[in-house]
Amino acid sequence: MIRKLKIVIRGVVQGVGFRPFIFRLAKELNVNGWIINSSQGVFIEAEAERKTLEQFLNKIESDRPKNSYIQSFEQTWLDAEGFTDFEIRESLEAGSKTALVLPDISTCNDCLEEIFDPKNRRYLYPFTNCTNCGPRFSIIADLPYDRRNTTMGEFEMCPECMTEYTDPLNRRFHAEPTACPECGPQVTLTDNRGNILSEKHEAVHAAAEAIKKGSIIALKGIGGYQLLCDASNSDTVNTLRQRKRRSQKPFALMFPGTDTVITECEVSDPEYRLLTSVEAPIVLLKRKKNVQSKVAYECIYGNPYLGIMLPYSPLHHILMKELGIPVVATSGNISEEPICITEADAYGKLGDIADFFLVHNRKILRHVDDSIVRIAAGKEVMIRRARGFAPLPVVLKGIENFTVLAAGAHLKNTIAVNKGSNVFISQHIGDLENIESINAFKKVITDIENFYELKPEMVICDEHPDYISTKFSETLSLPLHKVQHHYAHVLSCMAENELDESVLGVSWDGTGYGSDGTIWGGEFIIPNGLKFKRAGYFKTFRLPGGEAAIHDVWKIGLSLLYDVYGKDVFKLQNIPLLKKKEAKTIKQLLDKNINSPVTSSCGRLFDGISAVIGINQQANFEAQAAMDLEFAADDYKTNDYFASTIDKINDAFVFNWHGIIKSIVADLAAGEKPGLISAKFHNTLAEVIVQIADKLHFEKVLLTGGCFMNKLLLERAVQRLKEEGYKVYTQQRIPAGDGGISLGQMKYASYLK
Ligand code: ZN
Ligand code: ZN
Ligand code: FE
Repeated sequence: MIRKLKIVIRGVVQGVGFRPFIFRLAKELNVNGWIINSSQGVFIEAEAERKTLEQFLNKIESDRPKNSYIQSFEQTWLDAEGFTDFEIRESLEAGSKTALVLPDISTCNDCLEEIFDPKNRRYLYPFTNCTNCGPRFSIIADLPYDRRNTTMGEFEMCPECMTEYTDPLNRRFHAEPTACPECGPQVTLTDNRGNILSEKHEAVHAAAEAIKKGSIIALKGIGGYQLLCDASNSDTVNTLRQRKRRSQKPFALMFPGTDTVITECEVSDPEYRLLTSVEAPIVLLKRKKNVQSKVAYECIYGNPYLGIMLPYSPLHHILMKELGIPVVATSGNISEEPICITEADAYGKLGDIADFFLVHNRKILRHVDDSIVRIAAGKEVMIRRARGFAPLPVVLKGIENFTVLAAGAHLKNTIAVNKGSNVFISQHIGDLENIESINAFKKVITDIENFYELKPEMVICDEHPDYISTKFSETLSLPLHKVQHHYAHVLSCMAENELDESVLGVSWDGTGYGSDGTIWGGEFIIPNGLKFKRAGYFKTFRLPGGEAAIHDVWKIGLSLLYDVYGKDVFKLQNIPLLKKKEAKTIKQLLDKNINSPVTSSCGRLFDGISAVIGINQQANFEAQAAMDLEFAADDYKTNDYFASTIDKINDAFVFNWHGIIKSIVADLAAGEKPGLISAKFHNTLAEVIVQIADKLHFEKVLLTGGCFMNKLLLERAVQRLKEEGYKVYTQQRIPAGDGGISLGQMKYASYLK
């Protein structure tokens, strides 16, 4: 099938033969479409078979003209239009000339060479950068992007730097954050109270030595502090977990180079591209089996994936070269607060966690977390969108004539503000559960508004009355519109894929406020502008104990079983959760219907089934049980699935999971392996999508919501829908989880005209 790939490349790509290069490449590969230059970058639309387009993508990066640089590289898969030729179109200078704030860019190869060249004046200098690389978004106070408007403004350039800065032929011509050891920022190593221990390269060296000896280091990075320690040292990793009060959530890792990554993990071509891209995100990579791992069990527990990034700033490069071993590189924050960006904050909050602090005197103006991306169903899937990607806009038609603030959701919040058709989606802000995050939320809104001198005329928020983002929106005295959570997920996916309303939206997540006041989460949605139809949903069940059930997932398991078997439930064999002491008490809670809200949540069904099978009965963090269920299926390849029933209730198709529970109980009684049961369960959900799609007669099906960050579910659903002749759409540049809600809210505004 012919697909279209939309590519936006920003960076120095003009005047170096970039357009002719793309033209030749397109001709060589028989790709049709066009390329155009504008002040905002190079835009390409390319059509061919998927495999050819993947080749095209890889070759753009590997074979591009020697003097072309790429500061960001965005790609979106769309439906083909039927181009018959490839052409270079006239440069586009009309339209918005908004100067864009670029994301922070990883160190380029030229700068790297200088840093490790003993004869170069920037030898081992951790703040080396040039026009093609370095910090941007994290240091810009205001537009235009001039040195005086960045936190580098307080460093006066030395004559040599000034010569480079003013020479149009130099790589550092107007490189705003440029610096050298003579005139720029410097690093310092301190103890956990800020007492200076060593300076400059000696500080980096000492930090590396301390890490090797088992210390925890707080490092002031690009978009905030990170906590680093030796990933192979179980004791240190455990200490870090205790001090950070982080039970079992996997830690992100930084590896010294691609060689070490390839030794540990399976790395496909697109994964390699991502890992080494200018965005340099954390990439989730499948761990190889039977290798002597350098990563301690305590870093990730049973997770078959490692979240790995490569060094992306000179400071990281120099430190990792000294170390030569993988390190834990987790956010420098406590619990779920935003990462620390100032020394005051860092010593105050991380002083009890880190033994040493590797700090410097270049200020960070805003927190920008490390982004997380994975490859699933052959495409990039954004899990957390921040450094390297934010605040680049997503183009959305229909909102050109007014300015909207989209306040996002509650968990994994992002916000969005538009200028014309450019939608600026903020970096990941986090869960709005503590005062620090709420302050960050407000600051980010002011921040984006100030940058682009925007005054929103309208605000869009979630329908949930208790969300902080909703309550905040209500205080703004602007026209306010509320969008149902799962509809916003669907709209977000439509916006990204440039789809109109003739689609079936499958919107599955852990929780969202339903239009009937109950908790939704397993929804089939037909969009219709400002309204939508809830065409299907999961048969509801109860969450005994309410919110706490996201941790006590065995209670959800019990609730599911009780729903199916009634009072006979305790006669069932081989189900460990029924032996819990509290099980009878929870049954009474259900009988009396005390604190047991009703939900149609897909995520909670995953949790409950994970508990029923005995894979995870007590989650340490939200969705852990669901993730463990996914991982358990890892080694089981099967096409088997459980029979399921679709009931028709009041014009909606209701997925009745009772039959599945009975099949699982039978499998357990027969001694079937938990992993195989899990694989069959995943397959069953894909069949449920197909069955409901078959009843609703849409050619296009889109999959969105946090549940589709489950790679197994996503890939199986995409495969089965395609086999049945459906066109399938998924989120690409924007997270399927609640980080994507703000874009959906923005899309809603486009219907408001
Ligand atoms: Zn550079
Ligand atoms: Zn200098
Ligand atoms: Fe959601």
